[in-house]
Amino acid sequence: MFNFVSSDPLKRARQELNKATSVAVLTGAGISAESGIPTFRDALTGHWARFNPEDLASPDAYARDPEMVWQWYAERYKDVLKAKPNAGHQGLVEIERRKMHAKHKFFLATQNVDGLHTRAGSGRHGGDYVELHGNLKFARDEQTEEVYPLPQPEDLKVPPFSPAGHRMRPHIVWFGEMLPANGFQRAKHAFREAKVALVIGTSSLVQPAASLIQETLYTGGTVIEINPEETHLSDHAAFSFRMTAAKGVQALL
Ligand code: NAD
Repeated sequence: MFNFVSSDPLKRARQELNKATSVAVLTGAGISAESGIPTFRDALTGHWARFNPEDLASPDAYARDPEMVWQWYAERYKDVLKAKPNAGHQGLVEIERRKMHAKHKFFLATQNVDGLHTRAGSGRHGGDYVELHGNLKFARDEQTEEVYPLPQPEDLKVPPFSPAGHRMRPHIVWFGEMLPANGFQRAKHAFREAKVALVIGTSSLVQPAASLIQETLYTGGTVIEINPEETHLSDHAAFSFRMTAAKGVQALL
């Protein structure tokens, strides 16, 4: 049998993706950059410029000044509702659709808290999808751990209280906190069995999310990275494309 192997890396990556019976995707802040959502550090402007991410996104910060932390999250929540999913988010929905249609496996793990994958339609075709770091749209009762959607930003008073009358915290995984065990275990399994892992718009530095990629590398799966900047994953990935998320994902379709 004659197997045609193209010398064009994009074409080869596309072929690998097409034939893969299980695909796992990890996305980070970069996939939402083209929707106008800044990465964490880029959002620290104006009043917030004097803060480090750890000053706002940690249990200590919240214990010190819950109102200030809530004001920061209320602003991020407002920005996110104004943003729209871009061709990167939409392209991943199309990959999920094709994989599920072919009775293959598809898993999407995002480190983003903006909910743009959900709004684009991820999970709609039956693929598995997990928001590893939570979602800005939700808050959690500090006593019962029940999760509730926030009202629209104009109706949001911070800190919000649950129907049981307890104070609620953002439904976000802060620095130093554990990821939700069930979601992370599902992700680990999916990356371990992935024939292809797509890694899009993440510096691959934030642990333990970044360790998911190691699962695919250890088991001999093909890792495809899309990031306009080189990262420390770039040398280990089978394919590393210096492209934006929107261009890169569309180029793989
Ligand atoms: P990061 O900020 O460490 O890295 C972002 C990466 O995106 C960089 O490697 C950068 O080169 C790349 N990038 C920039 N523009 C891009 C584009 N147009 N297309 C593709 N890639 C692009 O982000 P991270 O690794 O995801 O980790 C930061 C943490 O901050 C995460 O834990 C996440 O929860 C949180 N965060 C989330 C959001 C969001 O929900 N949108 C935004 C900011 C921060």
